[in-house]
Order: sequence, then structure tokens, then C-alpha cells
Amino acid sequence: MSDDAEKPLILWFRKDLRLDDNHALDGACATGRPIIPVFVREPSSAGTGPLGGAQAWWLHHSVVSLSASLEALGGSLNLASGDALDVLVGLIKSSGADTVMWNRRYDPAGIAIDTRIKRELELQGIKAKSFAGQLLHEPSRLKTGGGTPYRVYTPFWRALENAGEPPRPLDAPDAVRFAPVLDTSETLGSWGLLPTKPDWAQDFSQVWHAGEDAAREKLSDFLDQSLSGYKTNRDFPAKQTTSMLSPYLALGVISPGRIWEETRGLDVPADDLVHFRKELAWREFSYHLLYHFPKLPYENWNGRFDGFGWNNDSAQFNAWTRGMTGYPIVDAGMRQLWQHGFMHNRVRMIAASFLIKDLMIDWRRGETWFRDTLIDADPASNAASWQWVAGCGADASPFFRIFNPILQGEKFDRDGDYVREFVPELADLDNKYIHKPFAAPPSVLDKAGIELGETYPKPIVDHAAARDRALKAYNAVKDAA
Ligand SMILES: Cc1cc2nc3c(=O)[nH]c(=O)nc-3n(C[C@H](O)[C@H](O)[C@H](O)COP(=O)(O)OP(=O)(O)OC[C@H]3O[C@@H](n4cnc5c(N)ncnc54)[C@H](O)[C@@H]3O)c2cc1C
Repeated sequence: MSDDAEKPLILWFRKDLRLDDNHALDGACATGRPIIPVFVREPSSAGTGPLGGAQAWWLHHSVVSLSASLEALGGSLNLASGDALDVLVGLIKSSGADTVMWNRRYDPAGIAIDTRIKRELELQGIKAKSFAGQLLHEPSRLKTGGGTPYRVYTPFWRALENAGEPPRPLDAPDAVRFAPVLDTSETLGSWGLLPTKPDWAQDFSQVWHAGEDAAREKLSDFLDQSLSGYKTNRDFPAKQTTSMLSPYLALGVISPGRIWEETRGLDVPADDLVHFRKELAWREFSYHLLYHFPKLPYENWNGRFDGFGWNNDSAQFNAWTRGMTGYPIVDAGMRQLWQHGFMHNRVRMIAASFLIKDLMIDWRRGETWFRDTLIDADPASNAASWQWVAGCGADASPFFRIFNPILQGEKFDRDGDYVREFVPELADLDNKYIHKPFAAPPSVLDKAGIELGETYPKPIVDHAAARDRALKAYNAVKDAA
């Protein structure tokens, strides 16, 4: 064996904190060379965007889990912080490695960083090899007949279906050859990813368990118990009927290819299976959009909205973030977000619509708040979804479709179970008024121990008037060129 074949290679983990279906790991193992696994905490000034507080918590626990999996195989995850190129070059010097491998990322800042690193490493005679693995299909693969990116979801979905089954996932290796452990690793605790004073994430761990085993368990519970009936049940936030896999997908603790694979050959109604796969395809579509339109997180996709007369009232924005708008379904969602770092999809739509249309606050402020508070914060899905609700996005819900928070609550949380869980001061309110406490007679409020304006807020806007105001603002921009 030549000396070169004994040189170590660096395996750079990023948003792929798993051993299963990890193409870069597989590629590294296939070389037969000793491997140095590393995770780099990149500065937010590098352009990756600040790591949100909730996702920092999730990252901490996900890195702990990945480290344990590597240790079980005899390895050790090197932790380093700083500019990724500097870190990699430092490791190359101290270890004698001549190759770096990673799985690709598809956010614009990540692509720019990786392109620069690849170029610089190659100039220094270091091989840099990247692999697919974050998506079912590379975002450049699916194109319209005219060779352009998709702008509309349904033809994108059809193209995805016609592209054939995604590649079968790779199993985690039974054994990995690691290079001797370097003594340069930083400690995870020194990164301060966990909140302390106060520990606002204390309830997160009741709901979320990090790591690949937990992700696989969530997947199998979902497939056994909830996939059948998913199409109908997925809209009801009090029922636990969606997969809850988005946090694992956001950091690559499970791959979409693994999820897709496990849905094959199941004895469930075709409608439910297709609907679930279509949701995975919304994630793909969001990445397709972000990849081809990198300004998606901060620029109106539809330029007509550039002149929209946002209101941006800070007191109202704060009331929204704290779940104190006086509209129970909105408040329950915003408090679920704060307590669990998560919000049910139907309620995300209602809460986002309320911010944008009832309060007329710029969708970008909502996008930023979600980015900081969701453990599943994802640059593509978050941006695409906010633009979708705002009506300015690709294939978006029309602006004039304005969710009525009372009717939405009554339709999707009929018995008020979701509201009662997250807005406990309304727990004893009659079902008839659970989504509109402001309409309840004083005797009903008394009986439920509610004093509006004291124990629970009065509505911060009148929905009907807010709706009219939003439509007027929309009419002013809708015909702009
Ligand atoms: C305003 C707003 C912001 C959002 N921000 C994010 C975000 O930052 N990160 C995120 O992962 N999702 C986001 N979503 C999409 C969606 O709400 C979540 O993916 C979903 O609630 C996750 O729950 P689940 O895993 O149980 O979903 P399931 O119903 O089990 O769906 C399975 C998977 O499909 C994908 N998916 C489902 N719905 C969507 C969707 N509408 N768009 C894109 N992918 C989808 C997710 O990866 C999800 O894990 C947002 C939606 C809205 C309306």
C-alpha cells in the first residue's frame, strides 16, 4: 500500500448529523483510509445566517448524539469553531490529510462558502469531494420542458414523480477506520449553545429527543399509527398525527431518502401515502426555489409587493410573539412555538396569516422570529412558506384569501383541545366561545374565571376591519407592474 493510501481524510459533518444514508461517510469509508470526523461551528458572519436560539439547543443535543455514535465505532468527533477553511487547513496541517469530503448544502450562503473552500483547497493541492444527500433529488435535476426551474408546485411534483424513485438509502457502516484521535477538539459545552439564565428551553426535552435512533422511532411510530388517515387528520393540531420529523430533517439527523424508502410497500391507503410524499416534495420544492432564487429569504418573489404599505407596529408584533393577540388559535400556536420550539403546520399558516394580513406586519419579521424560535428552522421551507402565506411567493396562496382565525379555530380545533393545552387561562371556557372569548357573555366568562383584558387579552385588532384594511393595501399594489 502506498503512503498516499494511508493518508487520513477529513469528513466534514454539517447538516447531515447521521451515519445512516450518509453519502460522504460512505465515500470516505470506500477509500479505506483513516478518517478524521469534524464538525465546524461557523461564524454567522460567514453568511450562513445566525443560528436561531431554539435550533442551537437542538444542534447541541444532535451533536452529542452523533459523537456517541462515532465513539461506539471507535472514533471521536472533532469540534472546532471559526472560518471553516481555516479550520480545515489547520486540521490538514496537523494530521497530514490530503482530502476533505462532505455532503452538499443548498442554501446560497452555504454554496458560496463551499465553492470558495473547494477552490482554495484545490489550489493547495488538497482534494475536496462533495456528495448529494440532503434532498431526494439534486435541486438542479428537475427542470421544466423549457429547461428552466419550476415556479409552480404541481408540475414540480409531477416531475418528481416522473423522475422515478429516489436512490435507495445507504445503510450506516458496521465499522469505520478512524485516524488517531487529535487532541485539538474544542468542547461542546464551551460553545454555549444551551440557554442557561433563564433556561427557556426546559420544556423542549419533554417533546424532543435528539439523535438517529429517536428519529427512526418517530418515523416508525408515524408509519404504524398515523400514516393511514394522514391526509385528513394532518390538519388537526390537537391530534398527534403528523410525523414530527422536520427537526431531524433540518439538521440531517435523518435523510429524506430514508423516510421515502420506509414508506415503500406499506399497506396504507394510496391517498394518504401520496399526500405524505407530497409534503416531502414541498420541502424539495422549497429547496428548488431557494437554489434557483437565492434572494427568497429576504426579497419578495413577486416584486409587486415591494410597495406594500406594511404597518410594522412593534407593540402588536410583540403581542404576536408572546401569544397575546386575543385570538386563541393564534396565541396557542405562538405559545406552542415558545414552549416546544415547534408549531403545527395548520397553525403556522393561521399565525403567519394573522401577522401579515390582520396586523399588516412585513412577513420578513415573522420569518426571522420563526428562524429564531423553531427547532426545525430551515432556510428553504421557512422562507418559501412565509412568502406563500404572504401571497408574494412562488405559486403562493392569493393574498385576498385571508384566514379568519375564529373560523379556522372552530374548524380545526372544534373542541378547543389545542387552545386549552397552550392557553391554560381559557381552559374552563365553554366550547362555544373557546375561539372567541370576546363574544362570550359576562356570566360565561365569570364562570370560566376569565377577565378579558386582565387574565386574557382583548383582541388587538378587529378581524373584519383588519381584513378590509389588508385588502385595500393589497388592491393598491396588485396592479403594479
Ligand atoms: C409560516 C411557515 C413557516 C414554516 N417554516 C418551516 C421551517 O422553518 N422548517 C420546516 O421544516 N418547515 C417549515 N414549515 C412547513 C411545515 O409547517 C413543517 O415542515 C411541518 O409542520 C413539520 O411537521 P411534520 O414533520 O410533523 O410534518 P409532516 O406533515 O409529517 O410532513 C413530513 C415532512 O414534509 C415536509 N413538509 C411538510 N409540510 C411542508 C411545507 N409546507 N413546506 C415544506 N416542507 C414541508 C417537512 O420536512 C416534514 O417533516 C413552515 C410552514 C409555514 C406555514
